[in-house]
Amino acid sequence: MQALSYPDFLQAIDGILHESREGGRHCAALVVDFEGLADLDGVLGYAVVDDIVDHGASRLVEALQPSDLVGMVGRHQLACLLHDVPGEGHAVLAAHKALRVLTAPFVHGERRLVLAPRIGVALSKSSETGADQLLRNANSAMRQARLQREPVRMFERSADELLLLGIDLWSDLGGAIEDGGLFLVHQPQLDLVSGRIEATEALLRWTHPQRGPIRPDMMVQVAEGTGLMPRLTLWVFNTALRQCAEYRRAGLQAGISINFSADDIRDPEIVDLVAQGLDLWGIPASEVIIELTETAVMEGHPGALEALWKFKSMGLRLSMDDFGTGYSSMARLLQLPLDEIKIDMTFIRDMTTSPAHERIVDSIIGLGHRLGLSVVAEGVEDAATLELLRSLGCDTVQGYLVGRPMPLPELIDTLVKQPTDRPQESLRQAP
Ligand code: C2E
Ligand code: CA
Ligand code: CA
Repeated sequence: MQALSYPDFLQAIDGILHESREGGRHCAALVVDFEGLADLDGVLGYAVVDDIVDHGASRLVEALQPSDLVGMVGRHQLACLLHDVPGEGHAVLAAHKALRVLTAPFVHGERRLVLAPRIGVALSKSSETGADQLLRNANSAMRQARLQREPVRMFERSADELLLLGIDLWSDLGGAIEDGGLFLVHQPQLDLVSGRIEATEALLRWTHPQRGPIRPDMMVQVAEGTGLMPRLTLWVFNTALRQCAEYRRAGLQAGISINFSADDIRDPEIVDLVAQGLDLWGIPASEVIIELTETAVMEGHPGALEALWKFKSMGLRLSMDDFGTGYSSMARLLQLPLDEIKIDMTFIRDMTTSPAHERIVDSIIGLGHRLGLSVVAEGVEDAATLELLRSLGCDTVQGYLVGRPMPLPELIDTLVKQPTDRPQESLRQAP
């Protein structure tokens, strides 16, 4: 059996779906996309890339059951229809089988190319699922897999809604970066030794004209899945530095902490862009902290590690965000030029009521200090937690108790213009 063209494939699926419905059986569709294949067009030529996709289709034909169908649904996309699938588990198993044959190297001349397929899976559960809808569902699961950087993903309706939102956000976010709509808020960080606000964390906000406020983690997910992240971060970085310069001029002598994602530190231009930003806004590098999550730095992209060391040599400080929630290996941690770790708020929230959480926080602070790192606790909401953290030797706290994330004018108002009401004063340790 050969891979079918799209119209033949669609027609064949329609027939099969009809038969299965009559017999009370289910079918499943897989949609396979190859990440980065479009980039190879320019390097290897269109004909070679088409050849690779054809070859992938033949592998699928061999690997699947003779009654299953394989078709082309786009230049870099293949789809399969699986006959008579008892349930989701079977469909996912078949997807993993497809993944295995497609991740085996493709040989082209001297080269061995290893592709990164993303596979979306959807089941024809109801009589309403026609061929077109089934493929759309599998396609949407495939895009979700791409967003989440997973090889295989099952279609879920809620994820589909998220994805639709993602598409809207993607088209609007590009515009918002260019012409406003985005803004930053700053959350103060209190140094427990000096009793001063030594830095603020810049956090991204976006009020969408129709949808209202969009959660920043959602924005980051969309930006990461659509390649917008470096542009978005560049906007955040420059805006954060400009606003930092502004509050320093207003009398708040504090640095600034800025969140970077895995995509940013892989961007080959990032080091130069950061250097230009520092120059432009006149903020000393030592006052700027780059926050990265464990997952971002643990992915082990060689260019990323190099960028971190360059940041370090420029005098910037590096912080590991959400510490304790990722999958750090200690060996890897020691390779990173870190200055700070931020204990995730899930540990902080329960530390006054759960001795186990308190012990974890105590150990992280000990570990951080032994590695020569400064330790920040996030999500501090009450005075009892702050006092406990102080007694454990934590260096800095951030959380609603010290201050909520606020726009620049409010930050200046609370921290500079109303000195009697300064949170850092009231939280300073009694002599
Ligand atoms: P994060 O970096 O861990 O940021 C801290 C989050 O905790 C913020 O949520 C902040 O508002 C919230 N928070 C701070 N203090 C408290 C507290 O006392 N209690 C509770 N319950 N929450 C507190 P936010 O602003 O919604 O940001 C969520 C996440 O979105 C951030 O988590 C970060 O991962 C991401 N993010 C935000 N802005 C940016 C950005 O500019 N770039 C990137 N790459 N990611 C960003
Ligand atoms: Ca952060
Ligand atoms: Ca965090």
